[in-house]
Amino acid sequence: MKIVKVSAIPMSAPVPEDKRHRTDLGTKIKSDATLIRVETDNGLIGIGAALGTPPIVAAIVDHELASECVGEDPMFSERIYEKMYNGSRAKPALERGVTQADESRRRGVIMEAISGVDIAIWDVKAQALGIPLYQALGAVRSSVRGYASGGWAPGDEAEAELGGYAAKGFTAVKMRVVGRDGFSIPNCVRRVKAARRGIGPNVELMIDAHGSLEVSTAIKLARELEQYDIAWFEEPVSPDDHAGQAEVRRATTIPIASGEREFTRFDFQDLLERRALDIAQPDVARAGGMTEIRRIAALTSAHGVRLAPHAWGSGVLFAASIHVAMASANCHILEVTQGFMPMMWDLFNEPFDIRPDGMVHAPDRPGLGFTLRADALERFRYVDGPEYEF
Ligand SMILES: [Mg+2]
Repeated sequence: MKIVKVSAIPMSAPVPEDKRHRTDLGTKIKSDATLIRVETDNGLIGIGAALGTPPIVAAIVDHELASECVGEDPMFSERIYEKMYNGSRAKPALERGVTQADESRRRGVIMEAISGVDIAIWDVKAQALGIPLYQALGAVRSSVRGYASGGWAPGDEAEAELGGYAAKGFTAVKMRVVGRDGFSIPNCVRRVKAARRGIGPNVELMIDAHGSLEVSTAIKLARELEQYDIAWFEEPVSPDDHAGQAEVRRATTIPIASGEREFTRFDFQDLLERRALDIAQPDVARAGGMTEIRRIAALTSAHGVRLAPHAWGSGVLFAASIHVAMASANCHILEVTQGFMPMMWDLFNEPFDIRPDGMVHAPDRPGLGFTLRADALERFRYVDGPEYEF
């Protein structure tokens, strides 16, 4: 089996005005994704998804990655990943057994494009084997606990919003530290208190600051929130401040989570060495695809750190994340977005299997296990411009 074509399709889903949520990131006006297609000489088509600005991802795939994959056997997925990561130095890198990454490929949009291609290659590979992707990776389970990820409501409205997630059956819910009404420590405490009222004592509650606080504020907030039994405090500080995150972790009993904006196992290695992390949240469509995320899972498990894959984007990204969760022993929970995301829910012919008890079940079909609806490319045609506005 040989790869004959690799292509990328930029996609967007505009958010209607009444469905837009606002946080410290701005007001979400659309969602973007890049769909990656890998075709083989025996007629298989694999799909993947990449984060990053879609036309840029597509240009990287067209001008750099496609030619490195064409002619390769998808069963040699580690080799293809190393080829993309090391670029023109792939041959000496593999002969010596050391990474010799191309200067521009270690982080950023190129790694996001590599991630998307890698997911599509794993889809093809599992299809060729005739088994679901998570079984090709090595299955550890066929269902995992999902958590409802949302929580933007202002003030006391957090009670009804988060309570609504629990009423759907989720046994864990996550809210944003910065709600639609902005941020202050007293307001955040009020919102968390309201959320805890809404979900009761037995549902896990997580909070996410999107890396928007400085160390001293994050510590002060964490200490005020300890009494509300917080399951994790996500991205308390900037992803560029691993040492600061370690300071926050040392100063509170709340477990610290981060990783959605990190690239490759090397970024996670740094977080682990600094003891900055309790829960790792790599994104399969950014951190390095299936190939690299399983290395991240192994690395974090050696440090007693659990895995909760970040899954916020298209249905392809969510599908890939389901397979990661089913094949990683140290994964305990998976993100299920509560935002307005038609590219997640209306992309495939097959619905996601999320049960009334909040459990996410793996598909039993070969490969990724999902097929695009006939109108998907037309409906989610790319729209230029940023995803958020202030
Ligand atoms: Mg987050």
